[in-house]
Amino acid sequence: MTTSPYNQEQAEAIVMVRRHLEGLTPDARARLRRRIRSYLAFRGEVARFHGAHLATVCSEKCFSNETSACCGREGIATFFADVVINLLLSSPAEIDALLRAVSEPVTGPDCVYLSGEGCLWLLKPIVCEMFLCAHVKTQILGKDRSLRKRWEGLRRRERLYTWPTRPVLFDELEALFRAAGLDSPLMYFHKSPGLLRLKARARGDAERWGKAREGRC
Ligand code: SF4
Ligand code: SF4
Repeated sequence: MTTSPYNQEQAEAIVMVRRHLEGLTPDARARLRRRIRSYLAFRGEVARFHGAHLATVCSEKCFSNETSACCGREGIATFFADVVINLLLSSPAEIDALLRAVSEPVTGPDCVYLSGEGCLWLLKPIVCEMFLCAHVKTQILGKDRSLRKRWEGLRRRERLYTWPTRPVLFDELEALFRAAGLDSPLMYFHKSPGLLRLKARARGDAERWGKAREGRC
């Protein structure tokens, strides 16, 4: 039995990023780590929110009876930047575990990265972290206005890293690897028609605004 195209894309991205990071100078790696610092602080806040307000309900509703709507097979889009950030933080053994997972034959309904101890990613993809099912939205956030507002605040902050109507980390990390001659189907910020349209529209708005300013001067 062979692995799936999804797993192959994942494996290729992991191998590519690992090799590239290993070839960087210590200074270049340190620069990358500094660049992701504020994103990691944001992720820390999201993780604390999950731990304080959602972990119990997720555990009771899904993980105890193994019927989670999260973590289904090939159910998530992994951004290339997710891979870069995770590998920057991971040990060689943790990266090997990811590669073993995506090289195995595809069976069962679960995400390939879901192990007995949970997700194999040290810092799981942003799409996974920000996903809330209808049950959580209605039964937890829907009944607590202040909690809902805090979650909405976190969603707005997520966009500062992933919504390319301005320069954002996820686009920038892809661009760095592309500038080094690397390419991957996971580079959605340079390949997804939706995200490309968003970037083009934002560029157009910035140009129009610049011209309007010049006209006023
Ligand atoms: S977000 Fe919803 S589906 Fe996912 S683990 Fe929590 S309760 Fe289950
Ligand atoms: S990557 Fe991790 S968190 Fe995301 S679906 Fe797979 S096991 Fe779940």
